[in-house]
Amino acid sequence: MERKELIELTMRNLKRNNMDAVYVANKEELKQTLKRYFKEGDMVTFGGSMTLKETGVYHYLKELGEAGTIDFLDRDVEGADVQSIFRSAFSSDVYVTSTNALTKNGWLFNVDGNGNRVAAMIFGPKSVVVIAGYNKIVETKEEAEERVRKIAAPKNAQRLHLDTPCAKTGECMHCMSDQRICCSYTFLGKQRIKNRIKVIIVGEEYGY
Ligand code: SF4
Repeated sequence: MERKELIELTMRNLKRNNMDAVYVANKEELKQTLKRYFKEGDMVTFGGSMTLKETGVYHYLKELGEAGTIDFLDRDVEGADVQSIFRSAFSSDVYVTSTNALTKNGWLFNVDGNGNRVAAMIFGPKSVVVIAGYNKIVETKEEAEERVRKIAAPKNAQRLHLDTPCAKTGECMHCMSDQRICCSYTFLGKQRIKNRIKVIIVGEEYGY
């Protein structure tokens, strides 16, 4: 399937699944689009993600926080009480994250070690904004799982310097490591609360 056709089909199916879906061509358009998802004074938290760093979204949120426009709880700042921020995320106004994969039938697939990110995507924050490069779109659920096993999990394990076989070899060895990054597997399909989850697909490659 052509890229344009695949993106359009995925967006249609996300909408059928009660998730809002928008397309932006690049990270400049992404920044403009993001503005519509925050109100002044909103408490905003985020899930660990290379996409947020690579697209500049993390820095954008940080700037809004420093300007006092939003109440930005930054888990990445030195000395942050990370566990407390993980818990605060459940009562935040907006949770910003990426996704490990999204299928053309409009499902979001994620695998977490701590589980804080998938938990917040499922329940708690009033609004969830998911940012994904088009490279995260896959045809089937099986491909989504394969994408995590072959790409996302090994790269994240390397990035986080975890003691897992995939961090050394770049391939999933179905490990039993105590530092295993693959603990909670979630597919988010049709949602009850319409448009609580908003998916922004970027026409550039980002993240793992
Ligand atoms: S199961 Fe273990 S080896 Fe496989 S991707 Fe996850 S952390 Fe890496």
